[in-house]
Amino acid sequence: MNRLLSIESTDDILPEYRNTPIGLLLEYHNLNRPFDDYQNAQLLVGMCMDNRKHLHMPDNFSYIIRTGGANLRYSEFKVSYAISVGGVRHIALIGHNHCGMVNLISRQDQFIKGLVEASGWDKEQAEEHFLHFAPMFEIGNETDFILSETKRLRLRYPKIKIAPMLYLVEDNKLYLIKED
Ligand SMILES: [Zn+2]
Repeated sequence: MNRLLSIESTDDILPEYRNTPIGLLLEYHNLNRPFDDYQNAQLLVGMCMDNRKHLHMPDNFSYIIRTGGANLRYSEFKVSYAISVGGVRHIALIGHNHCGMVNLISRQDQFIKGLVEASGWDKEQAEEHFLHFAPMFEIGNETDFILSETKRLRLRYPKIKIAPMLYLVEDNKLYLIKED
């Protein structure tokens, strides 16, 4: 966990993110900064669909794209929309520990059985579905994935500032991920 930078005061926010929407998100969520009024989105948050997470931030402050593992590879049109039409210039990419998109193969039986029982699919359909999509959505390791996805997005959108973060479900705080 020493790759995580905890944010307990504004001084902990890396200079490159201070006084940007990324720094503001950290201040709102971690430091209880009083909410400001926003008419337009300032930020795009990419985060996991997982139910254990909730961000503390003002209304209108941010677009949010939620996907398994905060994987934005299949959401690029929405990222482009937030930038082009929404006017955002900053992205916070937020993974979290104990993510269900890690080691998907270990949940193969549960996934197939659950889908058959709950949704009415037949077993072959469910198997094929799992085997087709699991490799696309597997993220390997939460922190490594967020760092690689951050790098990928920076190449894709070179003028946009992107910060890799991790949310710990134990304390519900955001951490910056240290980069080399
Ligand atoms: Zn997750």
